[in-house]
Amino acid sequence: SAQDSVDLVGRLSGEGIDVVRVTYPDMLGTDRAKDVLLEHLPSVVEHGLSFCRAVYHTTPRGETIQVPGGLDAGLPDITVHPDLSTVAAVPWEPGVAWVLGDVSSPESPREVLRSVLARAADHGMHPVVGPELEYFLCDPDPSSPRGWRRYTEVPGAIYTAGLRADPDNHLLRVLRSLRELGIGVTGGNHEYDGAQFEINLQHSEALSAADRAFRFKAAVKELARKEGRLATFMAKPFAEAGGSGFHFHLSCVDDTGNCFDDPAAPHGLSTMARHAIAGVLRHAPALAALANPTINSYKRFGPDTLAPWLIDWGLDNRSAMVRIPPERGEGSRLELRLGDASANPYLAIAATIAAALLGVLAGEEPPAPLEGYGYDTSKSPVLPSTLSTALDALEADIELTELLGKDFTTSFLAYKRDEVARFRRHVTEWEFTEYAYHL
Ligand code: GLU
Ligand code: MG
Ligand code: MG
Repeated sequence: SAQDSVDLVGRLSGEGIDVVRVTYPDMLGTDRAKDVLLEHLPSVVEHGLSFCRAVYHTTPRGETIQVPGGLDAGLPDITVHPDLSTVAAVPWEPGVAWVLGDVSSPESPREVLRSVLARAADHGMHPVVGPELEYFLCDPDPSSPRGWRRYTEVPGAIYTAGLRADPDNHLLRVLRSLRELGIGVTGGNHEYDGAQFEINLQHSEALSAADRAFRFKAAVKELARKEGRLATFMAKPFAEAGGSGFHFHLSCVDDTGNCFDDPAAPHGLSTMARHAIAGVLRHAPALAALANPTINSYKRFGPDTLAPWLIDWGLDNRSAMVRIPPERGEGSRLELRLGDASANPYLAIAATIAAALLGVLAGEEPPAPLEGYGYDTSKSPVLPSTLSTALDALEADIELTELLGKDFTTSFLAYKRDEVARFRRHVTEWEFTEYAYHL
């Protein structure tokens, strides 16, 4: 109500806040925002905040492309309504509070997730999600054509805490800032490759988990910039290093507890859990379009990467696409290892829950779990090897696109098909070196 937003202004002002950053995720999961003077917040709460719809038509390179309802409609307004339950002071930018907003358009990732969650709830599924994200930290490097190089190149840095792999204590600083931001970060560690970190978030109801993963990525990028660095969540930034995953843990709860747990059933997994696994496996090629949404994403997949390559599941098996961690009881859950860090967390989570729901509705059974080390193509089907193939699979998956919303998938496919076409026209340095001299 109007009184609530006046009260909020008073409270924020008392905390030294004078600017509110109203942020929402675009289709790619990038944070888009306007900074609003605090005294103007009540009017924004009442009327919403207008943005140009071009946000859905502009590529990261600044090109404008055709997405239905945009250029053809004269680039109308989209309106963002702040969700006041998400207000948080920004620890690294004193005086600024950060609030998430909802966009009035079919491309709204929060809305896509909400609608999938409503459908899941109709069938007794109330998902709980625990995100984990990996990223690389880069330093400026004027001598490299990219302008950036890895912050450290210490090999075999997995679980190396402290200064040997992180000479500048980046991880400690980020963890402490994230604690202050209050997005449920639990801790972090150095990953396999030099300058690659993983940070884990507390599990919660799915929309809050997606909100927190979204804020996490924006916060880490911002904190890195504050140090003159680049934090990148692209799937496979360096050919010589592993990729960055967006793994998340998934269970479902009701009044009686964890619906994925059943001590009497095979592997201690309930019927709902088995159907959910089967749905995720069956829809995996289409799911990849949302969990692995870039051209670069498909360079992360491969044998012996700890990223998936085949469509399979296994008991505490990290070579599988769906891993069932060893805990049971309240801890019974799936770990989805398909997604990479470049995914829009709302869309990757929405599509996975939609696939799990479809498995439950169809009463599908998964194949036997993977035994031993995976990556054996005689045992399991291979994931799509290009974005284009995954987009074809998404377009062909009528059940999944219906759950995600027709208007949303039309826009998403238009945007991503354009990305594929732009890349197809591009001649890479690799091609020139490979072909120009010897052929
Ligand atoms: N970096 C791997 C991936 O891309 C995951 C490594 C791990 O298991 O933490 O998914
Ligand atoms: Mg990891
Ligand atoms: Mg993991």
